Amino acid sequence: MRTLVTGGAGFIGSHLVDRLVERGDTVVVLDDLSTGRRANLAHHAEGGPVQRIEGTILDEPTVGELVAGSDRVFHLAAAVGVDKIVRDPLGSLQVNTRGSENVIAACALSGRKVLIASSSEVYGKTSRVPMQEDDDRILGSTMVHRWSYATAKALDEHLALAHVMHGLRTVIVRYFNIYGPRMDPRGYGSVMANFLRQATRGEPMTVYGDGLQTRCFTYIDDCIDGTLLAMETEAAEAQAFNIGNQQSETTITDLARMVVALTGSTSTVAHETYEARYGPGFEDTRRRVPDASRATERLGWTAKVRLEEGLRRTLESWPTG
Ligand code: UDP
Repeated sequence: MRTLVTGGAGFIGSHLVDRLVERGDTVVVLDDLSTGRRANLAHHAEGGPVQRIEGTILDEPTVGELVAGSDRVFHLAAAVGVDKIVRDPLGSLQVNTRGSENVIAACALSGRKVLIASSSEVYGKTSRVPMQEDDDRILGSTMVHRWSYATAKALDEHLALAHVMHGLRTVIVRYFNIYGPRMDPRGYGSVMANFLRQATRGEPMTVYGDGLQTRCFTYIDDCIDGTLLAMETEAAEAQAFNIGNQQSETTITDLARMVVALTGSTSTVAHETYEARYGPGFEDTRRRVPDASRATERLGWTAKVRLEEGLRRTLESWPTG
């Protein structure tokens, strides 16, 4: 099997590449190294089963060629992270809409199956939890840049599903706050990367808002299990699946406490307002909890790694200093 992974040098992408190689695939990685890193794939020897192409999904001819030369496609490349989205909404939108359109159109043209990596962010600020795949999405105003990410990801989902009527084989996964080894410590501003970096350096841990907002942190190995099952379960085609650890709902304040306890850090908590961090008018999701029952019933997937265990494993390879 020759598998194309867009965004394959990123945190999630590189773990997916490892697993595909273990199973005997030849893997082609297309990554522009914007948040991806060469180091994430450095353990794969040059000339081995992982072929690295440094390039962007905005490059339509390259995308077309690579898709045509592969048997299937995992589309993970995206501009990610709330920080990046609010700082560069235009660049992010272009990658997440036009880039994805290139990938999806190429898959449709070449008749290749494509998995779309979407996000729990598509649910927006709904207060209905746990979130089910068919739920309404509640997004704020277009004046709030944060929501452009959810809008772009939802457009990707719509595009892929619209192509199904014309023969495309596709499946969508919605990731819920994935964490684990290889998260970039500089982060794209994700709370987990920030806290681990701050705690291991003894710096104040930045909690935005009152810290009582919750997330369900999902360990990378569980994420990769769900991703592969979604791609390889034929009956799952043309559907979206929550890939999130329903059992791990945690307030940001409790996460900070847990990280301090596990690292033995001397860090204190520093509250910052959302406005100070992300600018005026910022809106956040108060509780984000997946209903993972569809993935359990139709893919045979459940998250297995508890938050404390996942944090321990992440810390084992966390860079010091
Ligand atoms: N957050 C925080 N401190 C940080 C980074 C994030 O308190 O250093 C908060 C953020 O405001 C949000 C939650 O942690 O409520 C999760 O943020 P993240 O950017 O990791 O992911 P999101 O789930 O919002 O996409």
